[in-house]
Amino acid sequence: MRYEGDIYRPPGEWKSYLLQVTIGCSHNACTFCSMYKDKRFRVRAMADILEDIAMARRYYGDVRRVFLCDGDALAMPTGDLLTILGALYGAFPSLEKVTTYAGPRSALDKTPEELTALRRAGLARAYLGVETGSDALLAAIHKGVDAREMLRAGVKLREAGMDLWVMVLIGLAGRGEPSLRHALDTAAMVNEMRPRHLSALTYAPMPGTPLYRDIQAGRFTPVTPREALEETRALLEHLEVDPLHFTSDHPSNYVTLKGSLPQDRPAMLAQIDAALRGERPIRIEPLRTL
Ligand code: SF4
Repeated sequence: MRYEGDIYRPPGEWKSYLLQVTIGCSHNACTFCSMYKDKRFRVRAMADILEDIAMARRYYGDVRRVFLCDGDALAMPTGDLLTILGALYGAFPSLEKVTTYAGPRSALDKTPEELTALRRAGLARAYLGVETGSDALLAAIHKGVDAREMLRAGVKLREAGMDLWVMVLIGLAGRGEPSLRHALDTAAMVNEMRPRHLSALTYAPMPGTPLYRDIQAGRFTPVTPREALEETRALLEHLEVDPLHFTSDHPSNYVTLKGSLPQDRPAMLAQIDAALRGERPIRIEPLRTL
């Protein structure tokens, strides 16, 4: 398979054939993110993408899942995405779902009819990096959309029939009162957006990013492990989406949590409380990465 640069995918896509349809992230400005800093965003040539699909067919035979890379395949023209989805479902008889990261701006730029057409063509799941429900924090991290726009992007994807999976970032507000505010604002947005899945990652400083430079300059103080756990606890307590598949099992998290809300909430809170009391180990700092 042919890939350009480092490739990222959600943890749950470990079985998927990774097809790179765009290079990098169309936004590429979030202050905490180091993923595509070495790539300039572009859409790959359709001939190359179709050639990759034919190569994957020969190499893998058949596949059941495909994840479209890099950071925001939804930024592609809808017609091109439909061509790719048609080629994938034509090449792999057992293909069950195609999934992708979705940038909020790209979701907003598509009409409901375009998103519905993509869903009908087999784009089954969109991963949306919500990060926070706080308007001020979205501006501070240069997410490129405000809270109202982020909410609208998520609702559009859900209403198009996509299996919406949102990611939020514990610790993004730094220490003190903003940490709890961030958790509550995030829970409030998720409750309105109503995704089926939520992954809570935990901020880890990544060298080369603007936020990392803020830490070095004393302008931003990351939360302690205890504060990160308390923030996760507050988020978990205030989520009202029913049902909601909740995961906090990323290499950035201090404690691994996984369950369905609302029924598994007490057990997950008990795990956090055990970690807060020092009765269960937490991931040590050198092993954490975003
Ligand atoms: S967090 Fe997502 S949208 Fe922001 S720069 Fe990174 S890949 Fe792009």
